Parts: sequence; structure tokens; C-alpha cells
Amino acid sequence: MGAPTVLALPYPAQGHVNPMMTFAQKLVENGCKVIFVNTEFNHRRVVSSMVKQQDSSSPDEEESLLKLVSIPDGLGPDDDRNDQAKLCEAIPKSMPEALEKLIEDIHVKGENRINFIVADLCMAWALDVGSKLGIKGAVLCPASATLFTLLYNIPMLIDEGIIDSDLGLTITTKKRIRISPSMPEMDPEDFFWLNMGGLTGKKVLQYLLHCARSLHLTQWWLCNTTHELEPGTLLFLPKIIPIGPLLRSNDNDNNKSATTKPMGQFWKEDDSCMSWLDEQPHGSVLYVAFGSFTLFDQNQFNELALGLDLTNRPFLWVIREDNKMAYPHEFQGHKGKIVNWAPQQKVLSHPAIACFLTHCGWNSTMEGLSIGVPFLCWPYFGDQLYNKEHICDELKVGLGIDKDENGVVSRGELKTKVEQIFNDENIKCRCVVLKEKVMKNIAKGGTSYENFKSFVKAIKE
Ligand code: UDP
Repeated sequence: MGAPTVLALPYPAQGHVNPMMTFAQKLVENGCKVIFVNTEFNHRRVVSSMVKQQDSSSPDEEESLLKLVSIPDGLGPDDDRNDQAKLCEAIPKSMPEALEKLIEDIHVKGENRINFIVADLCMAWALDVGSKLGIKGAVLCPASATLFTLLYNIPMLIDEGIIDSDLGLTITTKKRIRISPSMPEMDPEDFFWLNMGGLTGKKVLQYLLHCARSLHLTQWWLCNTTHELEPGTLLFLPKIIPIGPLLRSNDNDNNKSATTKPMGQFWKEDDSCMSWLDEQPHGSVLYVAFGSFTLFDQNQFNELALGLDLTNRPFLWVIREDNKMAYPHEFQGHKGKIVNWAPQQKVLSHPAIACFLTHCGWNSTMEGLSIGVPFLCWPYFGDQLYNKEHICDELKVGLGIDKDENGVVSRGELKTKVEQIFNDENIKCRCVVLKEKVMKNIAKGGTSYENFKSFVKAIKE
């Protein structure tokens, strides 16, 4: 076979599109063609941020190797795409049909034949579409193996009476549980669907269980993790194949080739923060970013801003356009730089960065671990709560930020924790040791490297 054509289908959210794009770029580097399918809404954002990003918009060779296409998500033009309940209801109603039509159209045109589908775990229904059309597939989990395992074991948790058959909206135990003796303990109250808000959580969970029913259609359960990070979980569910960390190939401005271009970002990266970082002393800057969803209210925003001032240290703070609000009048910010969206992996790799204040999304977690930067953890919802426990209690490479009795992180708490982490040599040492172990996985001969190569070999056969 010549270069096989792989269709890549991420769930429509930034934290899913990014790792799928990295995976797609790795496929291209390994001799595959990729057709990358975003929803129409996200496709427009991705293309627009790329056009703004690149001085030259001339089509180049890689565009024929990695083609961006789109299908509708089933929502109306004015619907809120951050409303996960709506999205999870709309997707299964219209996207399978749209995907089938897209594949048939591609085949009719005769330019390409789709040989393989890589679907996000949260889009695993695409395996059914593939199976109908005689195309094999894989799933890629952009979250932790722990989350994957939790999802897979929900029927068991219902059987054991830990969550009720109404999908765990009421938790029947206050005790921490272990899905298996080899896995870390979990607080059932932190189950990701519960902290998303009652009905939303339930709809998201129903949708994910619908996806999980397609998992039997493939033995390729790929996951953005490594053995060092989740040994017990991978031991318990050895079907999960670690291929992480999924990191964008080194950004080298002089060599923005197919695999280094920032593709897949919903917002334009503000590169001006890189020259600002160049001016800061090594190991001095606090990087503050909360991913693509987290929203602050004005009070919490004020405390964060004033807390950053209070640290009296340089900071780089990402405030997305959709979460812009007025700064408190006392805020000076003179030690800081604020951007709408940063080239996060490049930022984290910069020697000026000392610490990552994060919401603990799994991509941010993997990126920070791969670079060996200590974490200050401020999780909001979903799997961020387990990721925080993992970072602080299992891996011991970060500190949690505590909320006060009103559920607010005070400026004083922020200052205290920043001081603590800047002075914690043990955490810094553990970060470096762990980084080396994690990165060995994607070096030649490493487990993730070999798993990925076997996967590519299987596609090519
Ligand atoms: N990210 C980025 N620039 C920013 C903030 C985030 O490129 O200013 C990227 C980050 O590198 C990661 C993704 O956005 O790949 C966020 O995913 P994550 O799982 O951490 O959080 P989510 O957005 O899903 O909550």
C-alpha cells in the first residue's frame, strides 16, 4: 500500500483537538496522510487562527498530507458550543450520518480512500460508522488512563451499588473507593459528571457510555499517558496502550514545517510573550493558564489579579478573550505580561519559567510533567480534580491551592503557595527526575515510541 489515509476525529473541544492534532502530525511524519475532521464551528476557528498566525497563507506540500475538513455538529448557529449537555445530545443525532456522508463523498471523488479511523474516545461511535463502511479504527483518549478506566467501569460501579442506576447522580457512599487495588483511591464526590452540574453531568455521562459501547470494535485503545505516570491503572486495564506524552514537535521558528506549525488552536497564539520571557531571569516566572473552558467570576478574578501583584514576582497570565473582565483598580500588574492565548508548550519549555499555576487539565498536566515544571494546582471541575490529586499526592510534583469558606482562592493563599513552591527543592528535584522518565517513553526504543510504531505498522498493513 502507498501512504495510508487516516481520518482523525477529535471531540469538539480545544483539549481534544490539540492532542489529536499532535497525533495526526506524528502520523504524517511516519508516512501517512491524514484527513482531520473538525466540526464546522471549530474548523472556522482553527483555520482563522492559522491564517492570522502565518505570514504566508500559500498552500504547501503538507496541506495535501494533512487536510482539514469539517462536518456540522448538529447545533443551531446561535447555540452555545461550550454547553456540553447540548453538545452531547446533538452529536449522536447528526454527526454519525454526516461522517458517513463525508467518507462516501471522499471515496466518490476518488482522490483518497480512507484506510483507517482514529476517533477520540469521546467520539468512539465513529467506529460504528467505520465498521459499516468496512474501515477499521482506533480510539485515542486525550485524558488520563484513570479517567478511561473509570468510564469503562461505570457498569461495575452500578453493579456494586457505589453509584445508582440513575447514573450516579446520587452517590451511595461517602467512602473513598478504589476501582482496583492497584489504582489510586478516588472520592466518589469528585466523579467528573457530578461536579459538572446535575443535568449536564448526567447527559455527558450518558453520551460517554454510549461511546464506550463501541470500544469492542477495536483493540487499539491509545492513551496520552505513560507507565511511570499511571502504573497501577495500566496494570489493571492493560488494553490501554500508552503513547504519551503527546507533544507538539519542537517549535522552531526558522523551520515551521508540516509538523511544527501551530495547527488546531482555537485562538491565535500571542508569540510576544516569548521575547518578554527572554528578558526575565531564569527560573523566575510564574506561568498562569487555566485551559480553554474555565471561567472566573469577577470576585475570583480580582483576587487572582491582586494575588499575582502580591507575589512580587514576574508572571505570564493567559486570559482568554471570552473571560476578559475589568481589572480591580488597585491592580498594578507591572511585573507581569498578559496574553489572550499563549504558545503553551513553548512557554513551558522556556528557561525563565519557574512554576505552572494550572487548572490541571490533562494536556496541561502532561505538558508540565514533560518539561519538569512544578505545579500549583487550582482545579475546577471534571477530571481536573483527580489530576490535581495525582500531581500533588501520587507524583508529589505540585501543591494544591485551597479555597476559603466562601469557595474563593484568596490573594493571601496564592502568595503563600507561590512562596512555598518557589522554595521547595524536593518538588523541583522530583519534577526533573520524573520528566526524564516520562520523556524516555517517546525517545527511540521507549514504550510509547514503540507502541506508536506498532500502530503505524498495523495501519500500513
Ligand atoms: N493552551 C495553549 N495556550 C494557552 C492555554 C492552553 O496552547 O494559552 C493549550 C494547552 O497547551 C493544552 C490545551 O490548550 O494543550 C488545554 O488542554 P487542557 O486539557 O489542559 O485543558 P482544557 O482546555 O481541556 O480544560
